[in-house]
Amino acid sequence: MAIKTVWIEEGCIMCNACDAECPDVFLVTDTTCMIKADVREDGQESENRDEKSLLKAEHRDSLADGIKAAASGCPVEVIKYEE
Ligand code: SF4
Repeated sequence: MAIKTVWIEEGCIMCNACDAECPDVFLVTDTTCMIKADVREDGQESENRDEKSLLKAEHRDSLADGIKAAASGCPVEVIKYEE
């Protein structure tokens, strides 16, 4: 199923697993994990926790498997999404 939005809850330990799994969506920095601007309707780069910006329509299907894999592989379960 397509994913409408994805965000990062507090508690990321910067392990880089999501970045390796789905680099089109996730960017791990020194302090947290960001949802990349390119895939977001609002064009911002942040954890998307407050904004809950939607993914651009053209990415919702194509990135769904990668986002789900990243979420299930996150060791602290902070990657959340809505289908
Ligand atoms: S997999 Fe989870 S803990 Fe690891 S960098 Fe990504 S969001 Fe952070």
